[in-house]
Amino acid sequence: MFQRYYIKCPVCNKITVLRIQAGFLPKHPVRFNCGNCKISLYGEAFFDAPRVTLNMYRGEIIPENNVPDYLLAVSGEFLCSKLKQINKNEDVCTYLSPFMDFISTSGQEVFTYFKNYILNCIDYIEKMQNNYIICNQLYFLKQIELLKEKLSYLPSDLYPLNNEFDIYRAYHFVNRQFYETINKHEANAIARFIFGEIENFENNNISGLLKLVMYFEDKNLLDKWEYNIFQLNNQFIESFYKFIPILACKYYQSNIEDLEKIYSINTISFEEVEPLYFKCYELLSDTLALLMAFNNLKYRNDFTIMKDGIKFRKKAITTLDEYIAIESKGFKIDCIDGTEMYDNIVFGTFDRAIRNSIGHFNYEILTQDVFNQTILFKDLKDDSKNESRSLLKICFDMWKMYIAIQNISEIIYQTKKITFVLKGIRPSVKF
Ligand SMILES: [Zn+2]
Repeated sequence: MFQRYYIKCPVCNKITVLRIQAGFLPKHPVRFNCGNCKISLYGEAFFDAPRVTLNMYRGEIIPENNVPDYLLAVSGEFLCSKLKQINKNEDVCTYLSPFMDFISTSGQEVFTYFKNYILNCIDYIEKMQNNYIICNQLYFLKQIELLKEKLSYLPSDLYPLNNEFDIYRAYHFVNRQFYETINKHEANAIARFIFGEIENFENNNISGLLKLVMYFEDKNLLDKWEYNIFQLNNQFIESFYKFIPILACKYYQSNIEDLEKIYSINTISFEEVEPLYFKCYELLSDTLALLMAFNNLKYRNDFTIMKDGIKFRKKAITTLDEYIAIESKGFKIDCIDGTEMYDNIVFGTFDRAIRNSIGHFNYEILTQDVFNQTILFKDLKDDSKNESRSLLKICFDMWKMYIAIQNISEIIYQTKKITFVLKGIRPSVKF
């Protein structure tokens, strides 16, 4: 079902017709650009079947008009056709709805799976969001007695709270719940992977493993990263409705390069994705040190010894200390080349051109092509270095980085657990 809205641009008065698809969501953001002056227009749609209500915060809702300028399908669940120019009101009903398009591509069964998956995420957010935030705040405030009280809802046979190790384990369970909801398959796979790896290290090179653990613990990096990941998760949970069509991407029968050619995303703007993209990139590149250390331990039996051939400005980088000391994130990322096992957790998730565009002042970001949702990152010094990406691809890449961070958070957890054993604290339950 559709509801049609006519939106007048507050700058140039051009009219965009929105065909808002009612689906299974109670609400979702609406984001698009004026096809003429390119400014971003913001609103939010609410659904109370059969009613659809649109509130516009930038852009004016006007009565039906016979000579609209642009047409856009809007869905909070699926990818949509791109913004297109029209000449008359009769042109409005000319294309397949995002829902029908998804069904014809992926089928009813996939749709039902996707719908249940998203509703599960929303259910988690509604019921567990405050619990997640409070547990984390208490943990980082070191309010351990209050945290214990808060965690006491967990079954005590599985999650007893008798010592620091138990409390950390229960706290981690709370943190994993959201990730398991959004990505159960990958969450289980990474947990199994790192659990098996640590077991191998314990059997074959326990002293090397303990040195690695103490190195990161002494530098306070594990706590710092956990705090940063909490902050990031919090932002993702708050903005969840903006990302739903990104989560839908993997259920289309195409890769992202094909999807971006035909579809747009109309629930998030570049301005909104930009700070999240940057934050994911920075956090992910910071935590690479931990992956490097595990690679070093696995392949060279010593977490400090880097693989051969790494150079920074012609100087050989042979130790983890030297690697961490170099500030260039580009260099740190280039050391991940897919040749060692821990590389695979992040390999292929970085787009340096976009990060540099977002992070450096010598770039000017212009929304150049609003019909294709293509963002041009213009190098002010050298036109040949200009880069362009679709909003959809930027969102998709950000999501890939976000998932990689969740995987690393599991490695951080398995590493940190060992610090308790080193202090003589053991879990009350065997697992
Ligand atoms: Zn305009």
